[in-house]
Amino acid sequence: MTYTQEKQLAIEAVTQAAALCATVRAEMAQVETMQKGDHSPVTVADFGAQALVCQYLAAAFPHDAVVAEEDATALRKTENASTLAKVTEYVGRFQPNATPEMVCRWIDVGNGQVASRYWTLDPIDGTKGFLRNDQYAVALALIENGQPQVSVLACPALPLDLNCPDEELAVLFVAVRGEGAMMERLGFGKTNNMFVLSDRASEFPTYLPPFEGIKSEVIHVAREHLRFVESVEADHGDHVLQQAIAQAVGISQPSLRMDSQAKYGAVARGDAILYLRLPSLKSPTYREKIWDHAAGALLVEEAGGRVTDMHGQPLDFASGQRMENNRGVVVSNGVIHAVVIEALNKK
Ligand code: AMP
Ligand code: MG
Repeated sequence: MTYTQEKQLAIEAVTQAAALCATVRAEMAQVETMQKGDHSPVTVADFGAQALVCQYLAAAFPHDAVVAEEDATALRKTENASTLAKVTEYVGRFQPNATPEMVCRWIDVGNGQVASRYWTLDPIDGTKGFLRNDQYAVALALIENGQPQVSVLACPALPLDLNCPDEELAVLFVAVRGEGAMMERLGFGKTNNMFVLSDRASEFPTYLPPFEGIKSEVIHVAREHLRFVESVEADHGDHVLQQAIAQAVGISQPSLRMDSQAKYGAVARGDAILYLRLPSLKSPTYREKIWDHAAGALLVEEAGGRVTDMHGQPLDFASGQRMENNRGVVVSNGVIHAVVIEALNKK
């Protein structure tokens, strides 16, 4: 089974969604934000990105379920009409005929259920990072029989090379099971250029990022590079225990803190050998969500690494949105995985 069509479609959809997010961040001095039921923020860009990706998926694969983070219930309320108008304006730059009703319908394509074949989407992973001008990602994965098969992860604010943070921003990670992990420059960036992109707003209806001719490189996890990554948000993990475990397995450097699944990208391309996401003491009933891990997990595995929960169990993408059967997430270069799980067992 090759996934040529799925991969190409996912790259186009995610690139366009990432362009929307970067444009919102560049243009809106104050990004319009609403609070969700769990008090987490959702922005015009989360909704816009989900509408675009779902529109692509529904058009190309009408029989596939899509399980995405957002839905349009709040946007349909009269008091949020101006937010919906903004979302429609941004979506309209890429899908010129979009109306508010169409935008809501596209967003709600993402209300699908986990099935034997489905897509999972986080339109903006790391919304808090997006709002802070830090890292964020657009994450899309195709899952079949509980296994991610195709993953596309856009990190519009991630440098191509972490050692050159000011050079080229905007990275696209792509993986297909059995075919390895790739990294390429996203179709826009600081030099090629999302600001140019926003200056060309009048051309937007015909704008498509250049997919052709972008060089992609195969990426691998690192064998030796003694650093680990973790969330910026203290409440999304356990910084104290994460530090203790890293130390116990011989990692002495301070962690690199990053928002979103950019952390998976960091492990996949060897910026770090470990990503620890241990349950937060503040929210013991929280369970990880499939869209926060599916794309990143396949990427790291295809780059030669390993991904399990903190007990060494595989991540469960077959049971529902919440990964009820897993606690915490451990992502490594593979080599140190068993030692990390053992250190966790001793705590
Ligand atoms: P990160 O950018 O890695 O900190 O992760 C962002 C994601 O954390 C969001 O997409 C949320 O789905 C997720 N999240 C929210 N609350 C928690 C929690 N208590 N523990 C772990 N993840 C959480
Ligand atoms: Mg997320």
